[in-house]
Amino acid sequence: MISLAGLNDKQREAAETIDGPVLILAGAGSGKTRTLTYRIAHMVDNLHIPGKSILAVSFTNKAAKEMKERVITLLGKQKSRGMTLATFHSLGLKILKKEITHLGYHKNFSIYDQTDQLSIIREGLRLYHDNKGAFKKEIIASKIGKLKNEGIKPEDFADSPFFDGEDPYDHAVNFMYEFYQDKLKFYNAIDFDDILLLTVRLFDENPELAREYSEQFRYIMVDEYQDTNPLQFRLIRHLTCAHDNLCVVGDDDQAIYSFRGADISNIIGFERDYSRAKVVKLEQNYRSVSPILKLANSVIKENKDRRDKTLWSDKPSDMKPILWELADTDHEAEIVVEDIVSHQSKGGHLGDIAILYRSNTQAAPIEEQLRLSQVPYTIIGGQKFYEKKEVKDIMAYLQVIRNPADQMALRRVLNVPSRGIGIRTLEKFLEESEAHEIDLFSAMKKSPELAGSREEKIKNFVKLIENTKNYFDKYSLSEAITNLIEDLKYFEYIDKCYDQAKQASRRKDDIHFFIESAARFTENFKESATLSKFLEKLMLQDSQDSRDDDEEDDDVRKNEVTLMTLHSSKGLEFKQVYMIGVEEELLPHKRTIINNEGDAEERRLCYVGITRAQEKLIMTVCKERKIYGNMLPRHRSRFIVTDDAKRFYQEQDRQNFGHLESQEEVDKYKKDFFSGLMNLLD
Ligand code: ATP
Ligand code: MG
Repeated sequence: MISLAGLNDKQREAAETIDGPVLILAGAGSGKTRTLTYRIAHMVDNLHIPGKSILAVSFTNKAAKEMKERVITLLGKQKSRGMTLATFHSLGLKILKKEITHLGYHKNFSIYDQTDQLSIIREGLRLYHDNKGAFKKEIIASKIGKLKNEGIKPEDFADSPFFDGEDPYDHAVNFMYEFYQDKLKFYNAIDFDDILLLTVRLFDENPELAREYSEQFRYIMVDEYQDTNPLQFRLIRHLTCAHDNLCVVGDDDQAIYSFRGADISNIIGFERDYSRAKVVKLEQNYRSVSPILKLANSVIKENKDRRDKTLWSDKPSDMKPILWELADTDHEAEIVVEDIVSHQSKGGHLGDIAILYRSNTQAAPIEEQLRLSQVPYTIIGGQKFYEKKEVKDIMAYLQVIRNPADQMALRRVLNVPSRGIGIRTLEKFLEESEAHEIDLFSAMKKSPELAGSREEKIKNFVKLIENTKNYFDKYSLSEAITNLIEDLKYFEYIDKCYDQAKQASRRKDDIHFFIESAARFTENFKESATLSKFLEKLMLQDSQDSRDDDEEDDDVRKNEVTLMTLHSSKGLEFKQVYMIGVEEELLPHKRTIINNEGDAEERRLCYVGITRAQEKLIMTVCKERKIYGNMLPRHRSRFIVTDDAKRFYQEQDRQNFGHLESQEEVDKYKKDFFSGLMNLLD
């Protein structure tokens, strides 16, 4: 029996209301996610509801993973089996893997990322004659993405309210969208946005299938509901067609994804969409000490049109949040890292610390300083691991093996390493493939003689691919990949590509890391560690994942500082938080100021950042910052200069040792500082 004693009365009420719609609408740190995890444990352990009837959806892989860990802590591994704890994308993918044939794709489909998308669009633009060359591929791609997220099909665009007949871009998109979707289908590929779009279409066109899934997932929960977009909403509608056992939790003050199509009216209108909904409001914040919470409240209360909430904490603390005004970004990095080092030297755990920023570019000086001071850290987001060229090369080989129709992958690997197969040869096979409606690889295999003097080369390439395929049948993932890399002489190729040994060695490390992650994957999933599953896992990585996010991480946080954007920090908590660059033009972001978008969403983002901190919050502002090469004066964010907000933080002067608590510390600081200076002068 799981005891619900770890919940307060209202939380318990929400956890025990299993039948019918439930909405938990409450502020940050009030235990929404905790309530969901207890609710799941209660259903399984006390009500004996089979795990396979339970579906819980989180916003990011990291959040889904945290939820899984919390459930395992409550129930143990054995009893946690069978339930689906997923993100919207991983859920969609899971459904598509089983059902995509209903939509005319094969089961071994590939998932394309932005680079692949852009090459298809480049191809299409060559065919689109109007104002040739005047269109930016990126803009077309993003417009197509938006339409997909709104659920608009290519054939419906021109008649939809989104089409502006005066806008040449819309005419181009009208052509390109269809071209692009046709190509994807021909390559048996889908893009990231398609995952949700196709899942919803699948259910639109096959209501009986939606019913089947709805009957299977009798109990559905959605965390961070305030950030669902229209497609996600429709997916949830389908999955609740056979019942209305839906529990959603969220906070309208933390809606920060409207720029990506998230629609706050989903949470506001929940009681309209699901009548007889039980609404639970939570008011006690268990996360932060009260001075931090007071600051958060004073920042968010300036937003108009919000549901008024009273959020309180009974965790006293005599330390207010701190604001440091620093000279520039180097100084900022120095002081922040110095503070972290001092925390560490007092026996503090680095896993308790997060550095949060509005924009990824703010991370570089901090990273450099952390490296200099040998402080271990992990950075979340930034370039995704699988987007690195070398990793992508190897992955493209794996894609070809899994899905020979994947023309983008095939074209990528054809001359990597160089085989001297030129564009003219390629075109012959492309023609052959179109004429006979077969995929490119089959065309090469069937008629290598089309390559004329290059026939041998094509034959060798075909042989290489087929050999590699055998490796995957015979050996483990990591062994097969190692063999492939040897056959390709890929490391020699890397040496040739980079003049500097250091660069080459970093790329090789990436490949080694890739092989290791394949090995770990096999260890974790044993027999079910197939090539398909491995590729899917890599492609579903989102910007919230760190490079070595693993399925089976223990729940203990590693002893390293976490760096991430404010957006990525949603739902997480850390004892000590540094929010850097709380300045005008960063928070609110310059783009939102220029576009006159209003700052409600940016203010919510600021609120999300502040409410991540449990015990200690430090905000920084630089007096000057380099913008396009020029040092420009900076100002404190409008969010923290209101009279009310100012009452809830204290300013500390880091330049006059004002932050040091005792004379002893001041003396030591001065000594270290001067000996550092002497070293520099030596
Ligand atoms: P966010 O809006 O940031 O996602 P949340 O509402 O989901 O926050 P949780 O992450 O579930 O909040 O909880 C915040 C912290 O408070 C967690 O450490 C959680 O374990 C703790 N907590 C929540 N409720 C209780 C409770 N009743 N007793 C003790 N601790 C609690
Ligand atoms: Mg939460």
